[in-house]
Amino acid sequence: MHPDFPLPDVRWEPTREFWAAAGRRALSIPRCTACARRVWYPATSCRFCGGGTLTWTEVSGRGRLFSWSVVRHAWIPQVADRLPFVTGLVALEEDPAVRLVTFVVDCEPDALRCDMPVRVVFRPLRYPGVEREVLAPMFAPDAGVDRVVPS
Ligand SMILES: [Zn+2]
Repeated sequence: MHPDFPLPDVRWEPTREFWAAAGRRALSIPRCTACARRVWYPATSCRFCGGGTLTWTEVSGRGRLFSWSVVRHAWIPQVADRLPFVTGLVALEEDPAVRLVTFVVDCEPDALRCDMPVRVVFRPLRYPGVEREVLAPMFAPDAGVDRVVPS
């Protein structure tokens, strides 16, 4: 466990570029240069074709809510002040098989629906007793998608 737990370890090589991109308010996912598939969770080779060159590539940040969970109990004391909160799996627009574990924000838990359009937002992760913070991708409802236009 690193000293700033529960912040993510932004220097850990496999996800270092993910967090560096988030710091620039970009969402970046490794992509295989041989078959062009996106590979998530980051790996040293492509699980589809075995290619060994993966390039971090920005994605739109649009996706759909695949699943979620409303957290009402603090499993560690550092999250007690943010209860309740929502963790979710978001399927990316570019490849719905790529699903990110994330926080879902700016939405009442009862309003969440399977497959609802969401978009990335970047918010600081802060925890009591930890001086640093990390800008992290989270997802919020995307009101601009599937909006019913009155006739
Ligand atoms: Zn590949």
